[in-house]
Amino acid sequence: MKYRIHLSPPHLSGTETEMVARAMESGYIAPLGPFVDEFEEKFCKYTGYPYALAVSSGTAALHLALLASGVSRGDIVFSPSMTFIGGVSPVYFCSAKAWFFDSDESWTIDVNLVKEKLFAVEKSGADKPKAIIATDIYGMACDYEALCQIEKDFGVNVIVDAAESLGASDRYGKRNSPKTAFYSFNGNKIITTSSGGMLASHDKNLIDYAKHLSRQAREPYPYYQHNTIGHNYRMSNILAAIGIAQLSDIEARIERKKTIFQRYKNALGTIPGVEFMPCGVYGESNYWLSVIILNSESRISPEFLRVTLEEKGIETRPVWKPMHLQPVFSGAKFFSKFELGANPPICEIAFERGLCLPSGCGLSEAEQEFVISSIQKALYK
Ligand SMILES: *Cc1c(COP(=O)(O)O)cnc(C)c1O
Repeated sequence: MKYRIHLSPPHLSGTETEMVARAMESGYIAPLGPFVDEFEEKFCKYTGYPYALAVSSGTAALHLALLASGVSRGDIVFSPSMTFIGGVSPVYFCSAKAWFFDSDESWTIDVNLVKEKLFAVEKSGADKPKAIIATDIYGMACDYEALCQIEKDFGVNVIVDAAESLGASDRYGKRNSPKTAFYSFNGNKIITTSSGGMLASHDKNLIDYAKHLSRQAREPYPYYQHNTIGHNYRMSNILAAIGIAQLSDIEARIERKKTIFQRYKNALGTIPGVEFMPCGVYGESNYWLSVIILNSESRISPEFLRVTLEEKGIETRPVWKPMHLQPVFSGAKFFSKFELGANPPICEIAFERGLCLPSGCGLSEAEQEFVISSIQKALYK
């Protein structure tokens, strides 16, 4: 196979194989079992959330969170534009629609703008959004404090998309500030179960209802009885075994990611035209991916850099393309603090100027040196 440095490949703690073997031997080769319970308990202990539900993907976790928040046909849900499709598409599974918001300087949803729109909606007498999705982009926590206040002041459920940010924390070092958050264990995330997700909350009723929906909404009768339509979103016991192994060294993973980010920043950050993603504006990041920005003073474009690195077997990727620019969401509402045509929205600048660099926990120093020197060469050519 051709040698390649990947963006964010899965990284093993070392005990995964043993845990999977134990799961197989236990006979619980099923979408429930003791390892699912143990994974949920350990996840709660680590994040500080009292209740959690392990499911088949982050996308499924968000879908359940929206349903449990009462989102249904015709409802509006606020969402950042700078995100991944899986952090938005469940809004449409509910036959609701999203209003997209620009990011602020932290790259996370502009909460002042969200507040402004909520006041305007309230004043006009129109229906308030049923939920607000707030995404921790590239592992950087959004403004949990302001979002919790919005939740109180306006009575709207905030769902934090923490798919990329397991281990990130707010200004006070807390990992569980928002009432409800969901996580992803897809192959590229900081921990993986190959595919999987978790819904976590301070609200027991929300988790209980989501659990009910995740199991085909089966009512407690000896025969199959259903009063509502549910989903088949449970996590398998085998995958939960992998999750337990992966979670066991989460702190070391975050340390590795942070070291990788700092090394990129130290080596490249002083070059004219080069900047890095804004970290630590509202709390501590888990540094899931390192993102370099080539601003307008840079001699090369991020696309040129991407192609140059690809030729050397180094995988990089543009920043998330904003949702309001996606053909599937054409016509959707989009709000930015900048007047139309004055300044480009922050999420559009990030998309045009940003590039995600290899940030895997298993990236060796020598490999990172190779990436850094390749970038330096491309910049000075
Ligand atoms: C990965 C990701 C998701 C979706 O998670 P899956 O487990 O892949 O379904 C949602 N939102 C964001 C921001 C993500 O990065």
